Amino acid sequence: MKILILGVNGFIGHHLTKRILDETDWVVYGMDLSDDRLGKNLQNPRFHFIEGDIAINREWIEYHVKKCDVVLPLVAIATPKLYVEDPIGVYNLDFEMNLNVIKHCVKYHKRVVFPSTSEVYGACADPEFKEDESYLVVGPIQKERWIPFNWVGPRLDSLNTAKEGSSRVVTQFIAELLMKRPISLVDGGSQKRCFTYVDDGIAALLRILENCNDVCKNQIINIGNPDNECSVRELAHMLKKLFMEHPSHRCDGTYSEIIEVPAKTYYGEGYQDIYTRKPSIEKARTLLGWSPVIGLGDSLRMTLYSFLEENEPLVRSEE
Ligand code: UDP
Repeated sequence: MKILILGVNGFIGHHLTKRILDETDWVVYGMDLSDDRLGKNLQNPRFHFIEGDIAINREWIEYHVKKCDVVLPLVAIATPKLYVEDPIGVYNLDFEMNLNVIKHCVKYHKRVVFPSTSEVYGACADPEFKEDESYLVVGPIQKERWIPFNWVGPRLDSLNTAKEGSSRVVTQFIAELLMKRPISLVDGGSQKRCFTYVDDGIAALLRILENCNDVCKNQIINIGNPDNECSVRELAHMLKKLFMEHPSHRCDGTYSEIIEVPAKTYYGEGYQDIYTRKPSIEKARTLLGWSPVIGLGDSLRMTLYSFLEENEPLVRSEE
């Protein structure tokens, strides 16, 4: 099978590429603005990488959509701070640029495995979000998409995005701990999320790509871990404890304090939070025979250890 991954150097793209190359005989064609997360996969003869921009390299994209069996468009801005700061930029990239890709897929009758932000469920009041029943902001769309719920893991965000305050909550908190800055609980931190370790998510995604007996055709599938639910406040305390127990930081003496910040101060005007976001994964269990296996403690520990390993030298060199 030949797979086209746009945004192949992103958090999900590079983890997926590694697993595909390690565990299958599939061929991956990938494009991204840079290749720093792809490591030795760049040398794999089944991986063909081009440095490029989906807004510019349109002919390359069309040619490869035609050539491949499945297309995974993973290029998107998915950080809440940027939704507030640059909504037009987000719309342009996330919607308009991806629409061009989808038009090629329609033209060449190619299978698209489309990622959807879990924000499509909006402020849905259901205790567990169900793909075909829960109210979606844009209404149910009966086309293939998979919905990741707060995936975490190595190389989720860079230290630079965290410095700007625009990384996802787990990496933002870890970066604050590393830089000895306060951890901000937006509006008190009682909002809850379910954190999914990336290896679990990728395992589900591989089964969607495999698509045995066409079971995923036109299906929306949540990929999350409902058992890993915690509030943002609990998350802050868990990460602080893990950080304080880390061999390199046990003797630091001073640690970040945990403070409360109004959303308006943290994100600016116009930010709307979602208070709970818990996926039902019955569909993924039934269709894919998949269940997540990595618990919250392990997910946070592995994400924290890897973030520190990668970024500690950078922080030290700036001191
Ligand atoms: N959040 C927080 N402090 C931070 C960053 C985020 O309290 O420094 C909160 C944010 O308001 C949201 C949750 O953590 O309620 C998760 O934020 P994230 O950016 O990871 O994305 P979301 O899950 O909302 O899409």
